[in-house]
Formats: sequence, C-alpha cells, structure tokens
Amino acid sequence: MDVSGMSLGRRRAFDAAFVLMLLGLPITTEYLAIAFVHYDAALVWPDAGFWSRIEAPSWRCAGLYVLWVAFQAALFHGLPGRTVEGAPLPDGRRLEYRLNGLAAFGITLAVAALGVASGLVPASLLYDHLGELVSTMNVVVLVGAIGLAVFARTQADASERRLNWIEAYTLGACRNPRIGRFDLKFFCESRPSMILWILIDLSFAAKQIELHGRLSPAMGLVVAFQLLYLVDYFWFEDAILTTWDIKHEGFGFILAWGCMVWIPASYALQPLYLVGHPDPLPTLALVPIGLLGLVGFLLFRTSNLQKHRFSSDPMAPIWGEKPEFIRTEQGRLLLVSGWWGIARHVNYLGDWLFGLAWSLTCGFGRVLPYFYPIYFAILLVHREWRDARHCARKYGADWRRYTERVRWRIVPGLY
Ligand code: NDP
Repeated sequence: MDVSGMSLGRRRAFDAAFVLMLLGLPITTEYLAIAFVHYDAALVWPDAGFWSRIEAPSWRCAGLYVLWVAFQAALFHGLPGRTVEGAPLPDGRRLEYRLNGLAAFGITLAVAALGVASGLVPASLLYDHLGELVSTMNVVVLVGAIGLAVFARTQADASERRLNWIEAYTLGACRNPRIGRFDLKFFCESRPSMILWILIDLSFAAKQIELHGRLSPAMGLVVAFQLLYLVDYFWFEDAILTTWDIKHEGFGFILAWGCMVWIPASYALQPLYLVGHPDPLPTLALVPIGLLGLVGFLLFRTSNLQKHRFSSDPMAPIWGEKPEFIRTEQGRLLLVSGWWGIARHVNYLGDWLFGLAWSLTCGFGRVLPYFYPIYFAILLVHREWRDARHCARKYGADWRRYTERVRWRIVPGLY
C-alpha cells in the first residue's frame, strides 16, 4: 500500500487504524483459542471470566518457537533446490529465489514423526499447549517486527524512506528485505507459518484419536484437504513469485504477523472443533463436501497456473487454443482467455470454495468453525478491490478495456 502520497489528515487516520489493528488482531487470535478450547466453539460475549482464561506467553515456549523458526531457516538456506528469477522489480532488477519448500516440509514431517515415535514429543503437544503457543507467537512476532523494521529500513528505496516509523513497522520498511541471499518475506510466507499450521492439524488429529480411539472421517477429510493445500503450494512454489504479496507488498508487521501467527492460529479451527465433535454430520454428507472442495481446489489451481504460465510463455495454448490478451502501453499482456476471460479473479472464488468445504465438515452446530470462510471472503473482496485500483492506476485505459471485456470481478454472473 502506498501511503506516502496521501494527504496528512488521511495519513494520520491510516496510522491510527494501524495502531488499532496492532491491538485488535492478536486479541482476535486469543479470543478464538479461548472460545474453541474452553467454550466449545460457542460465539460468546467475552467478559472478565472469559479473558481470565488467556494463557500467558512463556520463555520456554518462546525458546522452542525461536528454535522452530531457526530450524526452518536452516532448511530454507541449506537444502538444494531449483533457483528461479522473480518478477521484475520497479527498478528492473529480478531477485533470485531457491525453491526447496517440498523438501523442507518432507524433512520436517520426518523429524516430527521421529520425535513422536521415540516418545520425546507427545503427538498432541500442540493441542495441549495451544493457548500458550498463540500468546507466545503474538509476543515474539510483535517484538520481532521492530527488529525487522529497523533492519529493512537500511534497504529501503527513496519512496520507502518517506514512511514514518508506524508505517514502516506495520506496512514494512522495504519490499524485499534480505540478509545476503536469504529473502525474509519469501521465507516467512510459508516455512515457519504454513508448515506449522499442518503440524497443528496433525496434533489435533492425534488428540482426537487419543480421546475417541479413532480418526473420524470428517477429521480425515479436512486434514487431507489442508495437507493438499500445502503440498500444492510447495509443488507450484514458483507460482508464488507472481502473487501480490511477493511482487508488491512491503514486509512489515502486517504480513509477518498474518503469515506467522494468523495462519497457524486461525486456519486449523475446523480440525480443532472436530477434536471434541468427531462426527457432526452423517458420513455420506462428506461426499458432496469432498466434491465441493475438489471443485474449489481445481478452480484455484488451474486459474493460478493459467496466469503464471502465460506470464512466462504467452503463446502456450489455454484450453487447447491460442491465448487472447490485451497488450498494455507498458508492454505487459493482460490475459483474457481461459478463466481470466470469465472473471478477473476466479482464483479467489476457487480458493474460497475450498475453504468453505473445510468448514462444512464441521456441520451446522456452531458458527465459529465458519470463521475462516467468513474472514476470507472479506479479505478476498478487499484484495480484489485493492488489486483493481492498482491495475487501473498502472494500466489506465488498457485496464478499462480489460474490465469492459471481462465484466465480473470474482463470481461470474454475480459479482
Ligand atoms: P493474483 O495472483 O490474481 O495476482 C494479481 C496480479 O496479477 C495483478 O496485480 C496483476 O499484476 C496481475 N494480473 C491481474 N489480472 C491479470 C490478467 N488478466 N492477466 C495477466 N496478469 C494479470 O492475486 P493474489 O496475489 O492476490 O492471489 C494469488 C492466490 O493466492 C489466489 O488464488 C488467492 O486466493 C491466494 N491467496 C490466499 C490467501 C490465504 O490466506 N489463503 C491470502 C491471499 C491470497 P501485475 O500488474 O503486476 O502484472
């Protein structure tokens, strides 16, 4: 987000909103952990009794969390992998990225399995210490983001240096802070965050087995779906390099916290609910839910791949035909074939439908297991709006031609 060109009044309002967000976001994760663990996922009004259940962060947990991040950093830095170039930066440079996420995930799973099999680590560890973990991650990332802002400031360009310290802390003092070749944003986007999310899922599944003596079909389905999301993410790791976060977003508290705390603390809520409610639906109901999830996943993956492949080879056929595109004044091509000719962000729709299927495995007894698709719908609508503004500014009349040709924003025929 470029705030440096805003009027002083608007900028002050933005800064105030950022400060509120700094407080509000961690509190939301604490609320969710307490509501799921102590109030059976009920949407309760949080009174003093509710907040008295907050678990304090601990030095032990902070030490283990830092160790976890260091372990992922060692894998990220040390494992071999294909090296690719990212999208061109505003100054024309292209940064190099090494892709080894799948290997890092495989090794992490093997180490976790060894730890559990040897009796060193209880399988339900992350379930049993969830509240403490959420509080600790909040504090570590809130504090760590100060160091990040100070460090990233040393690599800021002229326009980034115009940000004040609140903006540098929240939005990021620069877009691609790097220690040598170690890209902090690319690392934090997935390694200590998404891999931890899946370990948390597995810990919840283990807890269900411990309590009920079996893995329920609903738990099996939702964990399999989320595992698929992560394996797919790493399988097509190079496609991440053309996403908004990597290309345009500064790396500060918002993105660091969003990845490192929000993902592990809020994306595993469905398996968390299923620990105490193994069979909220008849098993047969999981068949249409499974199909919905697969449709969403395929829409998400094929649309993202179409755009990604088009960016490296604009002549490669899409749905068996030569792709159509609009050539912009800058020389950039806007794809109007395949999914990108049906709506401007079908990839968002697919991603959302997949997430909805995760929540549907929890049945209809509670609203909070639907927290993810509700929050995600808001995020995606805002994201589409922000992306449209960015593209309208960047491509001008060419973007208008594109939007006249592709009328729908996210949901064909509806929005
Ligand atoms: P996109 O991958 O859709 O990237 C948008 C960018 O693509 C635009 O800024 C523009 O960049 C380019 N673009 C837009 N339209 C076209 C076109 N027709 N032809 C060619 N290029 C075009 O968006 P995101 O990065 O927001 O999302 C990527 C994926 O990540 C999505 O599937 C989303 O659902 C998912 N996601 C998931 C989240 C989660 O928490 N689970 C959070 C956020 C995203 P430029 O002008 O620079 O070329």
